[in-house]
Amino acid sequence: MSTITSLIHSIPVDPQTGAIAVPIYQTSTFVQDAPGVNKGYDYARSNNPTRETAEKIIAGLEGGAAASAFASGLAAIDAVIKLLKAGDEIVAVDDIYGGAFRLFHKVYEKFGIKVHYVDTSDTQAVFQAITPNTRLIWLETPTNPTLKISDIAAISRIAKASNCLLCVDNTFASPVLQQPLALGADLVIHSATKYLGGHSDLIAGVVVSKTPQLGEEIKFYQNACGAILSPFDSFLLIRGIETLHLRIRQHVATAQVLAEYLEQHPAVDKVFYPGLPSHPGHALAKQQSKGFGGIISFTLKEDNAEAATAFVTHTRYFKLAESLGGIKSLLSHPATMTHKSIPAEKRKAAGVSDSLIRLSVGLEEANDLLADLEQAFKHLPQAALAETGLPA
Ligand SMILES: *Cc1c(COP(=O)(O)O)cnc(C)c1O
Repeated sequence: MSTITSLIHSIPVDPQTGAIAVPIYQTSTFVQDAPGVNKGYDYARSNNPTRETAEKIIAGLEGGAAASAFASGLAAIDAVIKLLKAGDEIVAVDDIYGGAFRLFHKVYEKFGIKVHYVDTSDTQAVFQAITPNTRLIWLETPTNPTLKISDIAAISRIAKASNCLLCVDNTFASPVLQQPLALGADLVIHSATKYLGGHSDLIAGVVVSKTPQLGEEIKFYQNACGAILSPFDSFLLIRGIETLHLRIRQHVATAQVLAEYLEQHPAVDKVFYPGLPSHPGHALAKQQSKGFGGIISFTLKEDNAEAATAFVTHTRYFKLAESLGGIKSLLSHPATMTHKSIPAEKRKAAGVSDSLIRLSVGLEEANDLLADLEQAFKHLPQAALAETGLPA
């Protein structure tokens, strides 16, 4: 059976009524026959049939033993960090999602958890950052916004040899393109707000565990801390996942076309897309994933925020917004949006120059998106000057 067919049929028909869509069990509690005698559910923070269905589908997609669905991607990350205790250390990818950095730095540091940030696309650097206290390695691959690729299998061997867990934030790739657990990771997290949900209509997160025992631990912290996904949002997530494979296939195909177009454009300096042979992670991405994703970043030859602002305010289909992975194309300017709080020196060292623009390629026709970019380039200050015939 193909993966799409098995996904579609992993979404159960309701045994009570035959409903082909997953019912929304909008309830807080479940009536018991006698104390402790129930139908598998007692209180909806601990478990809810709609959420449980979403969790089983996602565990299946990632090839994990169990999954827990949370109220946001950050709540999912938070649950993983709760596996640690004071004195433990984390080795994390240096261009980590900004919200994860804030959580580690402003919340968990004061509880005595230390984080070492390294360029995880350099496997040796990961090895060197490990100390006797390292309990967790945290990867994102591809990273945001420069799409750096890290070797999941090689780093999982370092994790095993050092007796620590490997968690991969698989938000950018999605389980359709990359399955970290099969490559040796212990845990996968998602901001299901992005590709899994896929319609820019919910905030959600998931932790998928390789073993039932890790799954139980995560479930314990979820119930103890309470950041569960609601029944309605669980339904929306399931509905989004039904078309995940088709959406990803189209995102990837269109992104490749746009990345190749950008690479030859005279106003563009660098293009960051793992599907381009010029990308330093191209061979590794090809080996460990089934496709290169729907996110592209690029910089302009006019490397300043004014030029980038002129571009991002003149696209028609690419809407200016944070977030990614939805059906509508989005674009953002990290230097003045998501990465604004990072000091300029540090930001530039990570490759996020003043003109870097990130695209989340949606499901519109590739030709329409290409034409949209083409006309936006005409609004760059230099191009506009050239058109008026005035000296630059
Ligand atoms: C958005 C995002 C998160 C955080 O998820 P929320 O659902 O916004 O809490 C974590 N990791 C990555 C890579 C993301 O893009």
